[in-house]
Amino acid sequence: MRRRWWSLAAAALLASVALVAPASPALAAPTFKVPFPCGQSWSGQTRSDHSPAYAIDFNRTDDLGDPVVASAPGTVDRVTDLGGTSYGKYVRIDHGGGYTTYYAHLNGFNVSVGQTVGYGKVIGWVGSTGGSTGPHLHYEQRLNGNDIQVRFNGALALYWGTKSYSSDNACSGGTASGTVNTAGADLTVRSGPGTGYSAVGSVADGASVTIYCQTTGTTVTGTYGTSSIWDRIGSGRFISDAYVYTGYDGWIPNVPRC
Ligand SMILES: [Zn+2]
Repeated sequence: MRRRWWSLAAAALLASVALVAPASPALAAPTFKVPFPCGQSWSGQTRSDHSPAYAIDFNRTDDLGDPVVASAPGTVDRVTDLGGTSYGKYVRIDHGGGYTTYYAHLNGFNVSVGQTVGYGKVIGWVGSTGGSTGPHLHYEQRLNGNDIQVRFNGALALYWGTKSYSSDNACSGGTASGTVNTAGADLTVRSGPGTGYSAVGSVADGASVTIYCQTTGTTVTGTYGTSSIWDRIGSGRFISDAYVYTGYDGWIPNVPRC
């Protein structure tokens, strides 16, 4: 009885939500990190005459050849050398949901097209290739191909001006970041990997979570399809991976099984 009542109530709620919600809500943005190894500080400059306008140019002392790392998990979809023009040697990473990042003027490449990368993966090295007059990293975030204002850990970069950015990219080895996407409702946190475990809290739609390990449990159909994977986001705290954007369809590389 209770279950039936809940089903009806949930159906009514969904129906009413559907009236006001967009037909295809945008996927939550990945949690982007500064594209340099953990602990490093880089000077990032934005300027309105930059092309594209919201790109950031990163520098630090003697930066030629310094490693550049993936700012979020994803799949490398371009490793391109434009020669002496434009980006020169650049990498693009597809993070899903329409989000991509660009890393330009590289000295060399450390990834290939189709490769899956996680936080902190070295993708290449700072250079001065293409239409560059000195070593720096030209970095962009795009949504559906359009240049967007850069955010790190959800915080907007400085527009316009120069600011020091400190990297926390892959500082916690073996963990990953995810973004909860329920398209509205809070997501219930369970004491174990399944809907039969007791509710021990909730996380809001759009919240960032740290995933310490993954395991199998109850099969759940959520925003990202049907999955039996559950993510441990704290001690005795599990959420269904079907509602978490991680950049991966399933198991996250380098994150241990619980
Ligand atoms: Zn630039």
